[in-house]
Amino acid sequence: MTENGKHMSCQEFQKQLPDLIGSGMNISGHPHMQECELCRALVAELETIAEAARQLFPIEVEPPDDLWEQIETAIRKEDKAEPAARKEDQTVEIGKKTRS
Ligand SMILES: [Zn+2]
Repeated sequence: MTENGKHMSCQEFQKQLPDLIGSGMNISGHPHMQECELCRALVAELETIAEAARQLFPIEVEPPDDLWEQIETAIRKEDKAEPAARKEDQTVEIGKKTRS
């Protein structure tokens, strides 16, 4: 009589652990987790480490490819905005012309 997943050794369970985590399955629902306090503690520790890693390294560590394009566009927009400040000089010149 072989019960799948039940009464497996800690070594067997821990060997499967990376696959179980990778598959996104709820590990705490695993039969071995129900009966083995040692592996419950181990998985809890792994989850704490994984959670800490997620906080240290957010999912998108590398900026998206178009980020630099967006920065470039923003810089160019600022360059274009500058000549608008010269309007004041033009109005002064127009004022001079109407005076003479
Ligand atoms: Zn165990």
